[in-house]
Amino acid sequence: MSTFIDGNGAAGMFAEALGIDVTTAVVTCAACGATGPFAESRVYEGPGVVARCAPCGSVVARLVRTPTDAWLDLRGARAVRIPLA
Ligand SMILES: [Zn+2]
Repeated sequence: MSTFIDGNGAAGMFAEALGIDVTTAVVTCAACGATGPFAESRVYEGPGVVARCAPCGSVVARLVRTPTDAWLDLRGARAVRIPLA
């Protein structure tokens, strides 16, 4: 596995694409059911960013930027809870 950063390191990219602060979001992994702060997921940077569940390593979120669009793949997340206040 390549080196990873934590979820906070990808916060700027997600904030730009989604307009939300993912550092306060809580993600439930679709593969293992673990629920934890997005900030604690393992983020790998490549053509885009891939966030992996810390306990099981499954991909919970994928975000790819093109010059005109942001593509978000959340199929690996059963739920994403975003505090509103
Ligand atoms: Zn998991």
